[in-house]
Amino acid sequence: MNKGLPKNKNCLFCRIVRGEIPSQKVLENKELLAFKDINPQAPIHVIIIPKKHLDSLSGAEEKEIALLGRIQLAIPEIAEKLLGKNSDYRVVTNCGEEAGQSVFHLHYHFLAGRRFTWPPG
Ligand code: AMP
Ligand code: ZN
Repeated sequence: MNKGLPKNKNCLFCRIVRGEIPSQKVLENKELLAFKDINPQAPIHVIIIPKKHLDSLSGAEEKEIALLGRIQLAIPEIAEKLLGKNSDYRVVTNCGEEAGQSVFHLHYHFLAGRRFTWPPG
């Protein structure tokens, strides 16, 4: 941990929000950003984040309810933009290391363009 620094100072996704690291943006508004994953796990793999730093969904509080709701509603908007109407996709958020989280800024994976299996690995 970087004690003494604001916790999002070196956060990868906060740096993307600030434009310090380039990204291929798919959707942006004042409170959220969606960009292409650098290591796609499907033909379409987009990362959706709140611009505000939250470690993961586990850290979310009641006061984030509107923000979280609007991120949810951005998902079908992204789907329609990238896939058109009536296309299938999967949305995943990994909460914690054991669940596969490697970047500790809340994000949702938007995956499409191939058939997915269940359960996930
Ligand atoms: P997770 O493992 O759930 O925390 O997901 C983090 C995701 O961020 C992974 O799918 C990475 O491929 C992706 N990622 C890491 N660095 C970048 C980057 N600079 N631009 C876009 N996606 C990234
Ligand atoms: Zn962050």
